[in-house]
Amino acid sequence: MNKAIFIDRDGTINVDKGYVYKLNDFEFLPGAREALRIFQDLGYILIIVTNQSGIARGYFTEGDYLKLDKGMKEDLELHGIEIKESFFCPHLPDGKIAKYAIECDCRKPKLGMYEQAIKKYNIDINHSICIGDKERDVALCEKYKKATGYVLYQDEEKQIENVKYIKGGLLEAAEKVRDNARLDQTDTGRKSRFISSVREWKLYKRT
Ligand SMILES: [Mg+2]
Ligand SMILES: [Zn+2]
Repeated sequence: MNKAIFIDRDGTINVDKGYVYKLNDFEFLPGAREALRIFQDLGYILIIVTNQSGIARGYFTEGDYLKLDKGMKEDLELHGIEIKESFFCPHLPDGKIAKYAIECDCRKPKLGMYEQAIKKYNIDINHSICIGDKERDVALCEKYKKATGYVLYQDEEKQIENVKYIKGGLLEAAEKVRDNARLDQTDTGRKSRFISSVREWKLYKRT
């Protein structure tokens, strides 16, 4: 099974300028690429989960979205980062474009995009993480209490159940995840050293 980071796009990876769809307007947030690299190096697969109601609103087309997505992925590839897949929701119930003006099951906080990804990439939800600048980006954590959520750019740091609210952005979240992974390792190391010393002691007693 794979562990995954589910990442929101606008306001999390790139500056949220409101319905960005041109590559020229796409601006990575400081530390975003570095953060993605950290997650990747920790063994997570990277999955983008993004609401793109601009498509239903008629601000841009699905083709425009895909073009930007491709450009973003190419940039990240040059930095050694692989986005496994970007899932996007083009819908909005009262959108202008009839085709997309539906009540779907993928618009966050709904979990449709996550469920697709989990199935397709055999994801272990219990060891996965959701990150975004809005509460709706961590809705998965409400259903799955062993998943971890990070909500970015908060006024104060707090933790409610399995969701952490932090002041910083994606890089700070990545650093926290990395620190936790190190702590886990030290802990496991300590446990196995203890177990082997018990084993030695038992062996010693027998002789
Ligand atoms: Mg966002
Ligand atoms: Zn949708």
